Amino acid sequence: MDAEVIKRSFDDSGLRCTPQRYAVMAFLMECNGHPTAAEIFKAVNRVDPPSSRATTYNNLRDLVLAGLVREVAVEGRAARFDAKGVRHHHFICDRCGNVEDLAWYDVPRPASRTLGKRILRECELIFRGLCTKCAPRRASR
Ligand SMILES: [Zn+2]
Ligand SMILES: [Zn+2]
Repeated sequence: MDAEVIKRSFDDSGLRCTPQRYAVMAFLMECNGHPTAAEIFKAVNRVDPPSSRATTYNNLRDLVLAGLVREVAVEGRAARFDAKGVRHHHFICDRCGNVEDLAWYDVPRPASRTLGKRILRECELIFRGLCTKCAPRRASR
């Protein structure tokens, strides 16, 4: 993964790039799946300088708040993390907990004025169901 890309994303977000935060970003950017905080901790603990569990979790939270990392919250399961720059929705399998990316499309917004709120962020969807591994083989047409 290109170190310049990671450094630039830190610059853009205003978050200080510490070696530990860098390690979390580098791991998430080269990882294809959606690891849990525990998996991220295991991975960054192997690189130098090692991070404590608390530091790793704090850094993850900072990265999420800075908008560099996306947290995919799943009730009843550990949250998954994702550093993909391209916006996308998610699909979560109810049986095995597998998280997959779905291509982005715009979700229609409710008219802000009727809600009395200002919606600043795009809506990100999580679809639930069974993944191809868990769904019955003979899908009825
Ligand atoms: Zn599944
Ligand atoms: Zn994703």
